[in-house]
Amino acid sequence: MTTDNEKTGICDECGSEFLRSCSEMKGLCPECAHILYGYENCDHVFKDGRCIRCLWNGNKSEYIRSLSS
Ligand SMILES: [Zn+2]
Ligand SMILES: [Zn+2]
Repeated sequence: MTTDNEKTGICDECGSEFLRSCSEMKGLCPECAHILYGYENCDHVFKDGRCIRCLWNGNKSEYIRSLSS
């Protein structure tokens, strides 16, 4: 069970861990929130396979893929 106090969440769309303070939406990483709802995206800085700012790991759901292709 997650609470609002937790710093990180799991994105409902892509399944990646993300830092809640970086996203406008509780259940979505900044990347998915941006693509699905037009919220401001994180200016991702990738290191060792994940963004050091928002913790997104680069996952993309099939749906996101179909939208961005
Ligand atoms: Zn996501
Ligand atoms: Zn990021």
